[in-house]
Amino acid sequence: MKKIIIGNWKMNPETAKEAQGVFSDVALGVKGFRKTSVVICAPSVFLEAMNALKIKGVSLGAENCFFGDVGPYTGEISAVQLKNIGVKYVILGHSERRALGEDNELISKKIKSAISAGLKVVLCVGETSRDEAGEYLSFLHDELVESLSKIKKVDLKNLIIAYEPIWAVGKNAPRSATPEDVHQATLLLRKILVEMFGRESGLGVPVIYGGSVNTKNALEMITLGGVDGLLAGRESLDSDKFVEIARIANTV
Ligand code: PEP
Repeated sequence: MKKIIIGNWKMNPETAKEAQGVFSDVALGVKGFRKTSVVICAPSVFLEAMNALKIKGVSLGAENCFFGDVGPYTGEISAVQLKNIGVKYVILGHSERRALGEDNELISKKIKSAISAGLKVVLCVGETSRDEAGEYLSFLHDELVESLSKIKKVDLKNLIIAYEPIWAVGKNAPRSATPEDVHQATLLLRKILVEMFGRESGLGVPVIYGGSVNTKNALEMITLGGVDGLLAGRESLDSDKFVEIARIANTV
């Protein structure tokens, strides 16, 4: 399986010109990386301009979508609309959206809609904090099971799970995750996927890690953390750093 390196630009940058610039620089930098798939997820408002560059070798992703194809949902953007402007991936269930009120029920509808539209879904799951009694393990279990409640085995080829512990995401994160933290959680996520969909299908779903990924921890997160790739937030806005993360993944 190729390693998957995804950038989440969040609500950055300010202009389409800057977005095009970083996107082109990343594409240039990752040229020839054969063991890695690279995806940039950008604000919807820039996706058309980025797609117009006709860049090969880096896929375009959105950071969110709504469910349904068309309808009375003011301000929302559907998966079909994204697909029609060249988008291939969409992040769903990111903790920054869950913090705005998205729950597993809504996320499950979005996932179903996005996969039906032909997008690949990057589903983010992760606990707010860890506790001695291991309650966070049941939280992770329920979050994954409920978010995937509308998904069938055949849909799994279009699914990536991103383990993003909220306590390790963003510049105000209380602490960094260790590869051991990541390994433990991803083992659990894989076990749940196997319970839900059977061994072969469950183990075929890539599980990646996100949370303050940088050029220093990328290698150990992949090798010791045992993940199939990485999701970088802040570091993905700097094309040199993001390309370096992809280069590291390409050597594993
Ligand atoms: C993210 O936005 O999904 C993320 C992991 O952010 P950061 O890398 O900045 O912690």
